[in-house]
Amino acid sequence: MQEFQEGDYVEVKTKKGVFRGVLLPKPKFSDDDIIVIKMDNGYNVGVVPEEIRLLRRAEKREARREIKVKFREGLPTVSIIGTGGTIASYVDYRTGAVHPALSAEDFLFTVPEIVEEANIRASVVFNILSEDMKPEHWITIARKIKDEAEKSDGIVVPHGTDTMSYTAAALSFMFEKLPLPVVLVGSQRSSDRPSSDAYLNLISAVKVAKTDLGEVVVVMHASSSDDRCAIHRGTRVRKMHTSRRDAFESVNSMPIGEVSDKVRFFREYRRRDDDLVLRDRLDEKVSLIYYYPGMPLEVMERMLEGMHGAVIMGTGLGHVASEFVPLLREKIRDGMVIGMTTQCIYGRVNLNVYSTGRELKHAGVIPLEDMLPEVAYVKLMWLLANYEPEDVTHLMRENLRGEIEKRRFLK
Ligand code: ASP
Repeated sequence: MQEFQEGDYVEVKTKKGVFRGVLLPKPKFSDDDIIVIKMDNGYNVGVVPEEIRLLRRAEKREARREIKVKFREGLPTVSIIGTGGTIASYVDYRTGAVHPALSAEDFLFTVPEIVEEANIRASVVFNILSEDMKPEHWITIARKIKDEAEKSDGIVVPHGTDTMSYTAAALSFMFEKLPLPVVLVGSQRSSDRPSSDAYLNLISAVKVAKTDLGEVVVVMHASSSDDRCAIHRGTRVRKMHTSRRDAFESVNSMPIGEVSDKVRFFREYRRRDDDLVLRDRLDEKVSLIYYYPGMPLEVMERMLEGMHGAVIMGTGLGHVASEFVPLLREKIRDGMVIGMTTQCIYGRVNLNVYSTGRELKHAGVIPLEDMLPEVAYVKLMWLLANYEPEDVTHLMRENLRGEIEKRRFLK
């Protein structure tokens, strides 16, 4: 083993067959002298020393292809603003390690065909998993988009998938006017896996960034096969599956379009505005509360303590146990804005059907129609920071960015 180093391209013969690939670092969990190689198809194989019949260096594979980015006259410019997550990483086939994509070249390494679509300006604002995102990150992304908008025709934001819908909603509200598309994109499987969705998602996102769209959207696989992506409105989209490639859905709504070879819009959408207006303040004193049977009153009390607003995910049409009503009434009297959404996710809240609903409505709880709870949470943060308190209540029920729809879609 001594004469081999991590990153060497090797051939291993065992009685199970011949494996060729890159020698990876020894796994931390193993005390044996197991060797692991990353094969050309992206899979790793581990071999214990007793099984090795022959181990030799094979013809070495290129560490990374050199791709030079040249500016091409006549092509639009698309800015890619990296934030982290699986999509923003590439695999160094020399060591098998996953690295963040930091430059235009790195993105092109994942999707070389991008150069046919646009001149790429690439930058990275941070490199984090999206579960670590906070409202301050949404603001940083928004400000970077504003800067880039002066130099490009469209924006693509690679982002972790876990909380991408929160960021999409935050950006949707923060940009009151957009002179270019803002496209969030992620991937469920990293680009070193043969089943990765990174390639199709990224190239589709760049195609959408070239259209006349003036909205914030999310572009992700539309089906589990590798043929098309859906364009979801930023205030309608939700991750609905932990691992499927088509995990993202437009809820209580439909995607606004689709990308295969070409981009096709099949619903109304906002066109590019002439100018850009960004209102990037957010009031972080808002809670998102999932009500559950048996929730102690003190838990609700604590979650409302010191807050300016709260969005409750109630049961069914929008309920919490009736013993909570006096507490909510008191908080609303003291100036807190409290909205009701549903943990059903699909459908619309209605506080007129059951007595609890009617009591909640009387207490001043705002029924938030068919708005997604996360979207309502972000919207309330944004309204509280940018509007007079007396306007917040009615604006919560007004459709500002497609977050409330009157039409019902069957599901
Ligand atoms: N946990 C990761 C994230 O949201 C998953 C992903 O990138 O898809 O950043």
